[in-house]
Formats: sequence, structure tokens, C-alpha cells
Amino acid sequence: MGNRPPRGHDPRTPAAPGNTTATAQMMPVVTSDRRTIACATEPFSYGSEGRLYFTADHQYVVKLYNRPEAWREASLHTIIRKRAAVMGHHVEYWSRYFCWPEALVMRPSLGMYMPRARPGLRPLAQFLSPRFRKRLAAEVGPGVLGSWIGHVGIMIKLARTVNRLHNNGLCHSDLSTNNLLVNPATGDATLIDCDGLVETGSNILLPTVLGTPDYMAPELVIGMMARGVEPPQPTVATDRHALAVLIYQSLLFHHPLRGSKFHSPDPDEDERLMLGKGALYIEHPTDHSNRPKTPFMRASILGKQMQDLFARAFIEGVRHPEQRPLAAEWEGALVRLYDQTLPCSNPACEAKSFVYVEGGSTRCPWCHTEAKGPRQIPILSFCKPDGRINSTTYPVDFRLVGWPKRTLHTWHVELGKLPGPGVEAAPLAAFQWEPDPRARAREVWSLVNLAIPQMADATGATPVPVPVGRAVELRPGTRLVFGGGDRARVVEVHMQGI
Ligand SMILES: [Zn+2]
Repeated sequence: MGNRPPRGHDPRTPAAPGNTTATAQMMPVVTSDRRTIACATEPFSYGSEGRLYFTADHQYVVKLYNRPEAWREASLHTIIRKRAAVMGHHVEYWSRYFCWPEALVMRPSLGMYMPRARPGLRPLAQFLSPRFRKRLAAEVGPGVLGSWIGHVGIMIKLARTVNRLHNNGLCHSDLSTNNLLVNPATGDATLIDCDGLVETGSNILLPTVLGTPDYMAPELVIGMMARGVEPPQPTVATDRHALAVLIYQSLLFHHPLRGSKFHSPDPDEDERLMLGKGALYIEHPTDHSNRPKTPFMRASILGKQMQDLFARAFIEGVRHPEQRPLAAEWEGALVRLYDQTLPCSNPACEAKSFVYVEGGSTRCPWCHTEAKGPRQIPILSFCKPDGRINSTTYPVDFRLVGWPKRTLHTWHVELGKLPGPGVEAAPLAAFQWEPDPRARAREVWSLVNLAIPQMADATGATPVPVPVGRAVELRPGTRLVFGGGDRARVVEVHMQGI
């Protein structure tokens, strides 16, 4: 169960720009649609499955397989064909998040042709351990590490991308920190290694690997060692385990099952038991035997919704794969998590942002600095309508923490929307904070309507329209209504002292 070399292409390797001398030494590659493409003669990366070459224009990557097995060609044909279904009407949008094979390579040997990941993206693995972070910051500059909220942005994109695969009956089969290329400064992310996709119930897209040990579901680790039975296969459910581990690691910087519990004096056996048969969540509420020996950041810093999803993934989900949260559930929770973050007031803080957990402290858990600025912040509860506009209470859908210049978008104002392809991303309303330097108690919070066609202040008995360009002051008990009729979104405001 050793570490497998990364299979995907990797922008860590600096790419030498082509020149005339190099062009003379190019390798011609012929695709199944009869195109001839010039490629570098030397691979930029060697993996256990194949060699990776840049095309002459450096925009694409060609992978030539070391052992072109008979089934591989049919499998690649299917993956290339599936591209259209997965991308749907939003090819430009989804192309950003997948490095999807575009053509089969027939000569000089079996391979595939796929777009190169955008510049500036690096494997997520480089941003997680303190040692790697330190090395990267020393090599490239501290700005490369971005901020913690960038990690939330990256995980939103990962969950959305994995959800897209799962909705199309596909599983990635090797979600890992090496196969997700990211930029935490911008929140950008791309999933690579899409030539190993597995189709549930298919006899063409069969698994080529079981995954990377840290991200393998316990049933795969257990099944891998069992003798005399069919080896287990990666599925959408095993992807869901890998996704939960990646989210936990990216937001809390440690592995959810790697604790202090001792399973076996044999290191390999200890590892297999820790990730397989003996898998135990380090935050298990009653069994503390796997708690790390040193202080660690707990899921509670992310609020109850995330904490509950992790508990499902790593307590019930380790034995019952069907209990693991869906990629769509993670996406929804992460989008709402993003709206509950505050900037850290300590300029030296490495995280630069943290979640304001309702009723909790406004002290940054990463550097222990108190939030500074407003005396109070507005907390907006976005409610689901229940058909009774004059009702006094509505079920809460999600909460948003107000902060100067934070904006509202379609996925706040309209029901059942999340950011994604075809959803307008322009800001529809913005928070404004006007401090009064003479008396902090007189600071004023308001929400400016930038583009909501129908917005009203429904605090009093008669709703007062708030036209585009106008603002409504936010006070304890302010009630806003976006839209009308059955689809109206009711928002309750309360002010939280900080
Ligand atoms: Zn901080």
C-alpha cells in the first residue's frame, strides 16, 4: 500500500517555452480523429500508468500509456464521449473544473490528448502540511498561500464538480490532494486524472486503481486485503468518502482518521487498520481512543451544519457507505459556510479569515485575535416561505453574517439556487456600515438594493418598497422580503454584539 506516483499532469514542472530548435525535435502524435499534433519528445512527468508530454503550443498534454491494455481504448472512447453529457450546455464553465480527455491518441502508441491545467494551479497537497506551506512560501512568496476562505472556495468547486460526475453516473475513483490542482489566493480549482473515471454498472469504464490510501473508503481498504474474493470497486459511495476527507483536511489541516490510536506493531498493518477495519473518527463524541495527542482544530469551528455532515461521513459513514453525505449536500453547506466568515483583524494571521459560529466568539480560532471594526454585526436569517406572508415565524433556510461590502446574489435572494453555470453572479445588494467616530453606539448598518426588482421592508404592518438604488437600515427585528407571492424570500435581521 505504498504511495502511488501522481498520474495527472503537474504544473510544478516548469515548462520550457518552445523554440525553433525544439520544434525540429518534436514528436508527431496522431489522434483517432486523424489530427497530427506536435509534441515535445521528452516527457515532463513519468507515472506508473504513463508518460506525460506537452504539445508544441503548451496548451495541451498528451499521455502515452506504459501498458496499453486492450480494454483501455474502449474505456477512453467512452470517457471522451461522456464529455458532452457532463459538460452539457455549459462547456466553457465546466472545462475550467475538469481536465477532460478530448481525443484518443493512436500513434506512436495508445494515449489521450487533454487540455493543460491553467497556470498558477498546484496540487492541493502543497497547501496542507506546515512543512510544505513553509517551503512553498519560501520559494514563491507568502502570497501563494492565499487565505483560509480560498480553501472554502476551492472545496465548493470540488463538491460541485464531483456532484456533476455523480449526477452523470460516473465516479472519479481517485480523488486525492494530488489530483486536485488549486490556487488558494483565487479559490480556483481543477480536477485532473479524469482518464480513470468509473461508470457505475458499466462493463466498459472499469476501475484502474483503488485510489490513494488516505482517501480510500474503509470498505476498499478492507476488501483489498481479503483473500479469495472479488476485489472491491470504487463507486460513487467511495468517492463520497474521499470527498469528505478532502474537505476536512482542507479546512482543518489534518486527516479525520489519523489519530493517536495504536492498532498494530507492524506499521503497514497499523495503517491498514487505521484507514480500514479500525477506522475511528478523531472527533468521535464517545470513543476518545483516537484523539490526537497534540492540540488540533475541531470541526466545531465550522458551525453545526458542517460538524453534523462530518459526523455522518466519519461515524455512521465509515461502516455504512449510504450514510455518507452527497456531494450536493457538501456543496450547499460550503456555500453557506462562505457567507458566515469574517476577516481576521490580525494582518499577520495566516488564515486571514474564520467562521463566525452563531452564538460563539468573534475571536479568530487560528491566531486568537478579536474581530475589530463594527460594534455590532447584522445576522440575517433567510427563511423558507410557508405560504403565510404575515406569519410571525418561518423555518430558517440558512444564515448570513453581515460585514462591510459583503454582497447578496441570486443564490441568496431566490429560493433553491446555488452558484453555478447559468446562475447570474452579479451582486444584487450590498451591506454598508457607517461608523460614527464620536459615538460607536451610533454606527449605522444598511443594505443597499443594487438590482433586486422587488424588495420591501416588511418590519411594520405595511411593507415599504425599497427600490433599486435605495437602502434600508438594518436594526434588531428588521424584516425584509425579496420577490413576491409563493416564491418570496423572507429575511429576519438580528444584531450581534462583537
Ligand atoms: Zn486570525
